[in-house]
Amino acid sequence: MAPFSPGTPLPVDRLVALDRAHVWHPYSPMPGKATPYVVESASGVRLRLAEPAGGHRELVDGMSSWWAAIHGYGHPELDQAVRDQLGRMSHVMFGGLTHEPAVRLAARLVEITPEPLQHVFLADSGSVSVEVAMKMCLQYWQSIGRPEKRRLLTWRGGYHGDTFHPMSVCDPEGGMHQLWGGVLPRQLFVGEPPAGFDAPLDAGYAAELDELIEREADELAAVIVEPVVQGAGGMRFHSPEYLRLLRELCDRHGVLLVFDEIATGFGRTGALFAAEHAGISPDVMCLGKAITGGYLTLAATLCTGEVANGISRGEVPVLAHGPTFMGNPLAAAVANASIDLLLRQDWQQEVKRIETGLRDSLAGAAGVPGVRDVRVLGAIGVVQLDHPVDMAAATEAAVREGVWLRPFRDLIYTMPPYITGDEDLARIGAAVTAAAVAG
Ligand SMILES: *Cc1c(COP(=O)(O)O)cnc(C)c1O
Repeated sequence: MAPFSPGTPLPVDRLVALDRAHVWHPYSPMPGKATPYVVESASGVRLRLAEPAGGHRELVDGMSSWWAAIHGYGHPELDQAVRDQLGRMSHVMFGGLTHEPAVRLAARLVEITPEPLQHVFLADSGSVSVEVAMKMCLQYWQSIGRPEKRRLLTWRGGYHGDTFHPMSVCDPEGGMHQLWGGVLPRQLFVGEPPAGFDAPLDAGYAAELDELIEREADELAAVIVEPVVQGAGGMRFHSPEYLRLLRELCDRHGVLLVFDEIATGFGRTGALFAAEHAGISPDVMCLGKAITGGYLTLAATLCTGEVANGISRGEVPVLAHGPTFMGNPLAAAVANASIDLLLRQDWQQEVKRIETGLRDSLAGAAGVPGVRDVRVLGAIGVVQLDHPVDMAAATEAAVREGVWLRPFRDLIYTMPPYITGDEDLARIGAAVTAAAVAG
């Protein structure tokens, strides 16, 4: 494609043409099937689109940019935190150096997560934090003389990221990583946890879990799950009872427990971390997505003193992982500001308000032909169809209602920013319903 002059703004049609010629988008072919919308700016809960024919259109964001932008866009305090940090330094290497934003963040994460979690590894994306969690668990067993404990167990329907080891614990069938079955390490799977946050514990499922963990304990390094909400693997909710059960089984059989709270962390399910619904702590916890309020890419892997001490007793007593942008000061500074902002307000009340708003505004969707289930938990609303969604038609229907949604598989769902007002919530509910009708 013909070159363009640097410094001059691209007309929208040219921008879209260059995008289609050169740019990969998530989970997409090249060139992309659908033409992406061009976002010019974002403020509060609104994305401002530049239209190909000129002019603009605003959409209410129903996605929080994939669980991340919990305070909306352009929040003055978060903007200021980035600017202040930019005036000091945007980045320095973390090997042999440290700085206040990262130290404050690590100490804060230790303070607000369950008590046994004491040590923090700052990673640059969620998938990397899951890689680090897995490495910690395998290395722990290797270091204490049990190198044969190197498999992972999970339940089906999960999602833990797109790099290779995390892919090995994503749902092996329904997920997007089926292609890699022959390449990935073979992990152990049990069925999906029985659905329903309030559903009573299913004794048959519990027995199956118990049996498998006991039988495989000699080779099992860890159980890894998303607590309470399985996100990109199917937007399913399960009872915290299963987390208590996993904690008990892991303790009994000498297996570590990893909670991937990358999607659930920072209040989304109504608890600050989903582990709190169960009143237990994992040995290792992954955080990401909302950690910086959606401003910059950052994730964290927390572990207990026991895991860290185990690793330190090994023949190779170091955790051999060190991303170039580890502990990035800009990201850490805005994470600190985002956590301050969240905890300073009555966020439980806001999440509750969104839960109620979504329940009300999605109630009508249950009667739409082709809708199999409507469910809401915390600030998450899901409409599940009985057929694969027509993504283009569903997205267009939502956009016509003035809302940005990103349906996938058989799911039309929303996890709006916590600052979303009641009118905008109603609009999101109407858009989800319209997308269900169209898709
Ligand atoms: C998004 C997500 C990941 C991957 O995080 P990235 O930052 O996209 O690498 C892992 N686990 C869960 C539960 C997620 O929701």
